[in-house]
Amino acid sequence: MTRQPRETYVSPERYGFPKTSAVVMRRRIAAIIVAVLAAASIAVVMVIALVTSATGMPFDGSGAGANSPTTADAYPADGETGAIDLNDPISPFSIEHPAVARLDPALRDAIQAAASDAEAEGVSIELTSGWRSADYQASLLSNAIADYGSEEAAREFVSTPQASKHVTGEAIDIARVDPALWLEQYGNAYGLCRTFANESWHFELATTPGGECPAMLADASEAQ
Ligand SMILES: [Zn+2]
Repeated sequence: MTRQPRETYVSPERYGFPKTSAVVMRRRIAAIIVAVLAAASIAVVMVIALVTSATGMPFDGSGAGANSPTTADAYPADGETGAIDLNDPISPFSIEHPAVARLDPALRDAIQAAASDAEAEGVSIELTSGWRSADYQASLLSNAIADYGSEEAAREFVSTPQASKHVTGEAIDIARVDPALWLEQYGNAYGLCRTFANESWHFELATTPGGECPAMLADASEAQ
């Protein structure tokens, strides 16, 4: 029996398969690690981008990007009346206050523009009233009835919740005489008009900017 020459038998190990396989495995593991690191890096970048864009938006949880806490839709929260302390009037720029926040945006823009121009002339326009809740308006009316002795007398100064332009956010009252006089003189440039002959402090958006103000009503009881 002839022995098979040894050189005809070639072990797979002699070709280095196990060694090659180990190298391939290490390369595959390395490729997987690189892929995982790359995916993690992309995820981190995306999270940072999302957080940045989210914090950069006026997000208020309402789901509507156009809304911000300064718009009327955000108010009233429970119990808000819009009441302002007469001894501590507020700026028309106090948009965190419901009396300003709930104003008709066009009126708010107009009084802010007027206040900025007045400020440049040394006149400080502040508000003693803006938006009021219907409940608050009703309490003002009942207090006025008690003070004046009759609803007829009270209605000359205080409207019903149904008639009041304050309840709809369409009226503002100006603190102090001089700023009110300034606004009576120049307000029409912003569309702002004094609307009652007996209330030098009460203004509404009643004309187009630069237009002529309508004739004043005698008092609030004439407003419907
Ligand atoms: Zn008023």
